[in-house]
Amino acid sequence: MIPSVHLIASLFISLILWPWFGFFALAAIIGSFLIDFDHYIRFVIKNRNFNLKEAYFYFKGPNNECAKLFIFHTIETLIVLGLLSMLHIFFFVVFLGAFVHIVMDWAHDLKKIKKTKQVSIIYYFLTLKSSKYRKIYK
Ligand SMILES: [Zn+2]
Repeated sequence: MIPSVHLIASLFISLILWPWFGFFALAAIIGSFLIDFDHYIRFVIKNRNFNLKEAYFYFKGPNNECAKLFIFHTIETLIVLGLLSMLHIFFFVVFLGAFVHIVMDWAHDLKKIKKTKQVSIIYYFLTLKSSKYRKIYK
């Protein structure tokens, strides 16, 4: 899903959460928009290229990356954010934003390519040897 859609959604989430969380509602932008930073990390690792603009157009254009592992788009990230939520309300709002983002991505990916990104880092590594996703960072 393109970043501008996630940005608009994150602003909308922040607006909805504002009455309950005040200034901390803006943390939803981190969870719902900046979570896509893992796409950039993947692009840098795979292509040895730090150009943000090229990374943007790489994932915007046709590529074979949609169903791969993106570390911030996993259940483990949600679990960590859920645990951190017990420490501070900031992390709870980030969790809400990330949850909405991941659900939006799943819906978009299922509609577009009939599969989703890898949902679990642990599951990914447990199935790595027998998986067609073996060459994920190649
Ligand atoms: Zn995403």
